[in-house]
Parts: sequence; structure tokens; C-alpha cells
Amino acid sequence: MRTPTPAQLLQVWERGGGQSAAACSLLLLGTSCEECSAEAIAALPLGRRDALLLQLRARLFGAEICGVANCPQCAASVEATFRCDDLRLIPDDADDAAPEAGHLLSSHGIQVCFRLPDSSDMLALETCADSAAARRLLLERCVLAMHGADAPCAVDALPIELQAGIAQAMAQADPQADVQLALTCPNCAHRWQPAFDIARFLWQELHAWALRMLRDVDTLAQAYHWHEADILALSPRRRQAYLELCMS
Ligand SMILES: [Zn+2]
Repeated sequence: MRTPTPAQLLQVWERGGGQSAAACSLLLLGTSCEECSAEAIAALPLGRRDALLLQLRARLFGAEICGVANCPQCAASVEATFRCDDLRLIPDDADDAAPEAGHLLSSHGIQVCFRLPDSSDMLALETCADSAAARRLLLERCVLAMHGADAPCAVDALPIELQAGIAQAMAQADPQADVQLALTCPNCAHRWQPAFDIARFLWQELHAWALRMLRDVDTLAQAYHWHEADILALSPRRRQAYLELCMS
């Protein structure tokens, strides 16, 4: 993995405007994971994608994440600080180029072979009208084979319990795709586990960073008449020093 330059990050931010978190994550990882093709990144199980996003987040904005959530019991605002590494269940040296093996589930006299959902599935699901249609499409895409005397020829003819079992087995096989925080409210001592979505979180951070960067470019361009590319190429320290000179 490499750290994208400010100019590359602004390009990603510009291209990602109005797109889903899944699409934006692909853009971000495309500029930072040179060793993988765009197709290979889109085919990573969501947990592997999220582990890479956590790694990228640490490179871009530091290893510490400070989040705010509202207590579901008393609505108090609760601040939580945690580290990217604490949320990463997949080691740094995981081979992202290795193809994902199929997973097996047997129930109701049927053996189902399935793969884990990936970014290309998330993009395909965006066109679904409702969650039932999305569930059906995800099964159609991820179930690779069905065997057994009772195996139907279409995925949506599988018993409902087996369909739910596949969804559960997918979640168990890819815990990194569904990270939950353990929070305790300092006001009422209520404990709960909100989900932490690194794809959405990192994109929001990138958006805030881009707006700050454009404002800094604007300030320096007006003061010194430099080009945007030259201002973006300055080291953060030097850019900050010039900004302070303009303000003084
Ligand atoms: Zn509370």
C-alpha cells in the first residue's frame, strides 16, 4: 500500500461526489493499492476491503479514531477513541491477491457452496428496489453451487431458513465486514454495540479534509498567485507555514 498524494486524494474526492460508500471505497483503494488491479480490489470480500481501508485511514489521518455516538437510552453524546489496529481482525500481511475459497453450508438435505460478498456485489445491489430484492440478488450472485436430492434449480426456491442460514454463515466467515464497538454511556451506564462502518467514516473524513484543503489552496493562491498543483505539492509543514504568514 502507498499513501496517495494530496492531488490524488482531491481527484478521488471529486470523482466520488454523489456516489455510494462502496463506489468511493473502490476509488480510494484504487489510488493506494498499486499491487492489485481494480477488478481484484472489487472482488475482495468486504472484510478484506475494510481491513485495507483501516490501514489507509491510519496512513492518511493517523491511527487514532475519535468518534461520537448518541446513547440509545438517554441520548447523551458519547465520545469514543480507538485505534485502527484495534478494529483490524485481518493481519497486515494477508494476501489480497489470493482468490477467496468457496464456503460450504449443509442443511435441509442440500449442500450449498457460496462465496463472501464483495464490492462488486454492493454496487450491483444499489439498483435493487427494496431489501427483499437485494437479499435475493446477493444470494443469486454469491451462491456458487447447490447439491443434494432436494436442491432446487433456483436460489430463491431454497427454504427460507436455509437462505437465512447462508446470510448468517457469510457474516460469521467475514467478521471484519461487520465491526461493532463496545460503548458504555458515562451518563446512564447503558452498554451497546454500534456498528462501525469504515467505508462511510473514511469518506466523510476525506470530504472534510478536501474542503479544508481547497480553502487553503484558495488562500495561498490569492496571496501568492501560485498554481493549485504547486500548492498541493508543498509539504504539509511548509503549506502551513505559508498559511500562517498570510494570516499574520
Ligand atoms: Zn446514556
